[in-house]
Parts: sequence; structure tokens; C-alpha cells
Amino acid sequence: MQKSFKEVKPTLYVVSTPIGNLKDITYRAVEILREVDFILAEDTRTSSVLLSHYDIRKPLLSYHEFNKEEQETKIIGLLNEGKSLALISDAGTPGISDPGYEIIKKVIEEGFYAVSIPGASAILSALVVSGLIIQPFTYIGFLPRKANDQKHVLEDYKTRKETLVIYESPMRIEKTLNMLYEVLGDRNIAIARELTKAFETIIRTTLKEASSMEMNPKGEYVMIIEGGTDELKQPLLDVKSHYLELIKAGYPQKEAMKIVASKHNLSKNEVYRIVKIDEVSS
Ligand code: SAM
Repeated sequence: MQKSFKEVKPTLYVVSTPIGNLKDITYRAVEILREVDFILAEDTRTSSVLLSHYDIRKPLLSYHEFNKEEQETKIIGLLNEGKSLALISDAGTPGISDPGYEIIKKVIEEGFYAVSIPGASAILSALVVSGLIIQPFTYIGFLPRKANDQKHVLEDYKTRKETLVIYESPMRIEKTLNMLYEVLGDRNIAIARELTKAFETIIRTTLKEASSMEMNPKGEYVMIIEGGTDELKQPLLDVKSHYLELIKAGYPQKEAMKIVASKHNLSKNEVYRIVKIDEVSS
């Protein structure tokens, strides 16, 4: 039998809220938000729009990236007093590229309940209408901002066969599409913009085409990118087997890296990363 709300106190409910359309919230989410003692919100002003739409009047506590450490003691204190709490973010599912992970972990460690109240998230909303293979997929989230760091992260995904999901801000989307094309090469991509909102758009194209497209600098974007193929692994295999041959022949690691880097026109860091890729070594 399902436990009643009172029986499972004290609990932190991790509640998904809409990613645009205010109707995308579950009955259960509204019910929980009406019943808890406090609502932890990433931005209390943003959440007030949703909460007043559903006539939810509960005390709000701010919980965001910059106060999460100082709020932790307060939150655990409230749970110790037997209070029930709901965690929401500005949109979608808390913890998914949003604050939440640390407090959820702490609540579990302290022996309280953490209960998921599922609902919208941009990941699945974009993935299921991308027209690309749905599973397996890897959620990358936001890429690092600096071009070099972005490149390094993407290099690691280049030979992976699963579909990739990446979030991006409208200000950086064009640069990121260029980088995706440069590192991953040409493959299919679905770019989902403003999901569930009035100007929802889904562009299904290739990375080559997308890298020269002008993107609307407003709105929210998710990119769903086709996984890599086996052919992509061959050049990496060549690099790795060359390195292993040199090691077998008695070259010290550093020297072997240097020779391979110069032969294959790569940096020593790139050779190091390739040599470490597990799938390639198997
Ligand atoms: N917690 C949210 C979730 O569950 O999807 C994600 C929050 S993250 C701070 C915000 C990013 O999610 C945006 O930059 C965008 O990449 C993506 N996103 C959120 N809402 C979206 C929407 N309606 N359409 C497209 N992407 C969206």
C-alpha cells in the first residue's frame, strides 16, 4: 500500500516543474508542493510565477549555486525538526544541470528520505522527438566554456557510439556547433529550441550544415547528436598500437609519446588521452 504523506515525514521531495508550458506539472507535484512545510527554490521570484498559478502558498527558502553550503545546515535542521521540504529549480528536474546534487546527497547521508516527484526535463523532451537513436544515450549537459576545454571534453566522446545530449545557452550555440563539427565531424543533429513554449522549433540537420547556420540568439537549446561509427576508431587504434609497439621495443613512456605525437601530428596530451581510451585498447 502507498504510504500516506504524513507517514513518510521528514522528507526532501525532489519535484520536477515545467520547462516552459505551465501545464507540464503532475497532479502529484502540485499536491506535494501544497503539503510540504517549506519549498527550496533556486530563484524564489522565478518560482513564484508557477506557485501562484497553482495557488501554492508555502514559505520559500532560496537554495542555489552560491548559497548551497550555508543553506545545508538550515535544511538538515528543518528535517531534524520533522519538517517536510520540496526542492524545485527554475525549470525541469532539480539536479539536472541545476542545483540539487549536494543537498540530496547530504539528506540521504543523514538518514532522511529523498523522494523523487518526476516530471519534465529538457533531456528526454528533446531526445524523444529528435528522430535519432534514443538509447543508449549519454547526457553531457553543458560543455565547458573555454574552447580548449570544450575540445578536450568532445575528443573523449568522438568515438562513442551512443547518442549525445548537450545543453547550450543561446549566446554560445553557434560557437559550440562549430566546435562540434570540428571535433566530431559530420553527423546528424537535432537542435531543439524553446520546447513546450510558443516558439518551439526543432531543426533536424547535419553538423556540417548546422555549423554555418545562424541561430536565434534568444531561447533555450538542447542538441541531440548522433553517435560515432567504428571507422572513427581506426586512426586512434593506429596511434595506440604505434605507442604500444614502441613501449614493447623498450622506449621509455615519455619518449614513446613524443615520437607518436610527432608522427601523427598530435600534441603529447592528445596521445596520452588516446592511449588511455579503454575501448580502443580492448
Ligand atoms: N533542470 C533542467 C532540466 O531538467 O532540463 C535544466 C536546467 S539548465 C540550467 C537550463 C538548460 O536546459 C537550458 O540552457 C537549455 O539547454 C535546457 N532547457 C531548459 N528548458 C528548455 C526548453 N524549454 N527548451 C529547450 N531547452 C531547454
